Amino acid sequence: MKLLSAVIPCYNEEENVTDFYHEFMKNESFFRERDTELELWYIDDGSSDRTAFRVKEMAAQDKRVHLLSFSRNFGKEAAIYAGMEKAKGDYIVFMDADLQDPPSILPEMFGYLSEGYDSVATRRVNRKGEPPVRSFFARMFYRIMRKISRTEIMDGARDYRLMSRQVVDAILSMPEYNRFSKGIFGWVGFQTKWMEFENIERKKGETKWSFWKLFLYSLDGITAFSTTPLAFAAFMGVLFCLAAFALILFTIVRKAVFGDPTSGWPSLVCIISLISGVQLFCLGIVGQYLAKTYMEVKRRPIYLIKEEI
Ligand code: UDP
Ligand code: MG
Repeated sequence: MKLLSAVIPCYNEEENVTDFYHEFMKNESFFRERDTELELWYIDDGSSDRTAFRVKEMAAQDKRVHLLSFSRNFGKEAAIYAGMEKAKGDYIVFMDADLQDPPSILPEMFGYLSEGYDSVATRRVNRKGEPPVRSFFARMFYRIMRKISRTEIMDGARDYRLMSRQVVDAILSMPEYNRFSKGIFGWVGFQTKWMEFENIERKKGETKWSFWKLFLYSLDGITAFSTTPLAFAAFMGVLFCLAAFALILFTIVRKAVFGDPTSGWPSLVCIISLISGVQLFCLGIVGQYLAKTYMEVKRRPIYLIKEEI
C-alpha cells in the first residue's frame, strides 16, 4: 500500500474544513483501486475561529484526519513546510481549504505521476472574479520575475501541487526562513507536468490576503529568488556618476569659454533632490536584502506547534 497525504493550510476556515473533507473523500474509491491510502493534514495556522475544533470533530470520526495547530499565525508558507515535515505519505499534495483547488482533478494529476513525472503542478488560465487591480499587479509581478530571476516562476501558478517523496525531501533540504514556495518548487527542478484549470471563486469565508500582504509577499519573492535589484542599484550609481561628470565638464567649459557665471539655485535643488532620491531608493534595496539576511541568520524556527493530533 502507498500513502497519499494532503496538506491543507487553514487560517480561519471553520466554514470550509468539513466541506473540503467530503469533497476530497469523493476520490477515495479511485485511490483504493490503485492501492493508495489517503490521509489529511489540516494545518491550523493560528486561527481565531473554530477551525481546530471542527477538525478535531472529524479526527474523532476518521483516523485519517490529522491536525497540527500553530501557536500563532505564521503564514501559509510556514504551514506548507510544517505539512511536509509531518506528513509521511509517498506522495504529498498541497490544497487550499476553500475548495479553490478542486479535488476533482486529483485523479488526473495522480495519473501523470504514474506516467513518470515527479511532480504535477497547476495553474489558473484566467483570474475570473478577482479585482482587476490585483490581477494587473499580479501579472506585472510575474513579468518582472521572469526577467530578473533564473528560477522558473509560472504566471497563475497555484500552490496546488502533487509531488513524490523524492521532491518533498528535496524541498525539506531547504530550511530557509523566508520561504517563497512558488520559487522553491521551481528551484528544486525535477520533471514537472503543468495542468491548467479555470479559476474557481471562493464560496465561503473571505480571502486572507490583503493587497498589502500580497505586496510584501511579492517583495519576499523577489529578494528570495533574484539579486538583480542589487545590480540595479550599482548600475544607477554608475549612471549618475557619469551624468555628474558630464555636468561638471559642461559647467567648466561654459565658464572658461563664455565667462558665464554659474547661475540658479533652482536647478541645484532639483539635482540634489533627484540624486538623494535615487540614493535612498538604492539604499532601500540594499536594506531589503540586509533585512532578509538578518532574519535568516537568526535561525528562528519557521513555525511553533501548539497541538498535534
Ligand atoms: N492561509 C493560511 N495562513 C495565512 C493565510 C492563508 O494558512 O496566513 C490559507 C487559507 O486558509 C487558505 C489558503 O491559505 O486555505 C489560501 O488562502 P486564500 O484562499 O485566502 O488565498 P487566495 O485564494 O485568495 O489567494
Ligand atoms: Mg482561496
